[in-house]
Amino acid sequence: MQPTRNLVTGGAGFLGSHLVDRLMQADEEVICLDNYFTGRKVNLAQWIEHPRFELIRHDVTEPIKLEVDRIWHLACPASPVHYQFNPIKTAKTSFLGTYNMLGLARRVGARLLLASTSEVYGDPEINPQPESYRGCVNTIGIRSCYDEGKRIAETLCFDYQRIHATEIRVMRIFNTYGPRMLPDDGRVVSNFIMQALRGEPLTLYGDGLQTRSFCYVDDLIEGMLRLMNSDTTGPINIGNPSEFTIRQLAELVRNSIQPNLPLISKPLPQDDPMQRQPIIDLAKKELDWEPLIQLEDGLTRTIDWFRKQL
Ligand code: NAD
Ligand code: UDP
Repeated sequence: MQPTRNLVTGGAGFLGSHLVDRLMQADEEVICLDNYFTGRKVNLAQWIEHPRFELIRHDVTEPIKLEVDRIWHLACPASPVHYQFNPIKTAKTSFLGTYNMLGLARRVGARLLLASTSEVYGDPEINPQPESYRGCVNTIGIRSCYDEGKRIAETLCFDYQRIHATEIRVMRIFNTYGPRMLPDDGRVVSNFIMQALRGEPLTLYGDGLQTRSFCYVDDLIEGMLRLMNSDTTGPINIGNPSEFTIRQLAELVRNSIQPNLPLISKPLPQDDPMQRQPIIDLAKKELDWEPLIQLEDGLTRTIDWFRKQL
């Protein structure tokens, strides 16, 4: 039997490179597309010379012709600092990138998995969030390029399914952390770890009482693989349902690295969601999936990795 031919867009990034590892370890073929905006070749260093692996510098806003069985569509900056750097490009990446990948999926009969996000729920009025919640997104704010970009990407997937019978899988990813996050990407886990390792104060935006639910990358990728291999279209929440305030996260990181560091306040960015927690009943039922790694364990692994990078 021929190995499955996978296309991973955004494969040089944080989640993409962990997915590539799992696909390569399963003896599959992988073509990775990336424009290196936030991705790094070093994340894929172990596969570069491998005969089943190919890396192409390509921007998903441009069409491409390839023969593949599965498309894992992850290309899009994910950290607010990065997606707000060029917001028009972010919206273009989400819309045109997903449109181009769906066009490819349709032409070659591939199944496409979209890496969507909990950001489609915006600043949610209900907590925790089920997949049926339609969200509370500001269409004109500084996060909109990303949130609305992912919402139209989901819409495109479902219209391709209805009109062209394209096989789609839509995954709503909640905050994920782990090795290979960029140290300067501005996300809260990498910021706190880097600040603590450098002996600097940890920066709480606002009062630090806003919440997030943090999923360790290995759990997340397991959920992604199960969704692609399942008969479930989604949208489906994949995340860790344990909810923490940002202040609690700061205390956990500080206590693991330098317990006497101060926490300082900075202004809360515009439209910053006040709460976020997934309901994962659907993932449990349809994919027999739930996260296994507790925040303390995941943070220890992530801190070890960041320490080695310094
Ligand atoms: P990341 O920034 O590390 O990875 C994104 C990758 O896409 C990078 O390698 C980047 O260079 C590439 N890319 C960006 N624009 C591109 C373009 N126009 N053409 C080709 N490549 C492009 O981010 P990540 O955390 O690995 O996120 C991966 C996906 O998962 C994204 O679609 C993101 O929206 C989604 N997601 C991530 C999280 C999270 O917590 N990490 C949460 C929700 C959703
Ligand atoms: N945050 C913080 N200090 C930081 C970076 C982020 O308090 O140094 C907060 C941010 O305001 C948000 C939460 O942490 O409320 C998560 O931010 P992140 O950018 O990681 O993810 P997102 O907001 O996209 O969920």
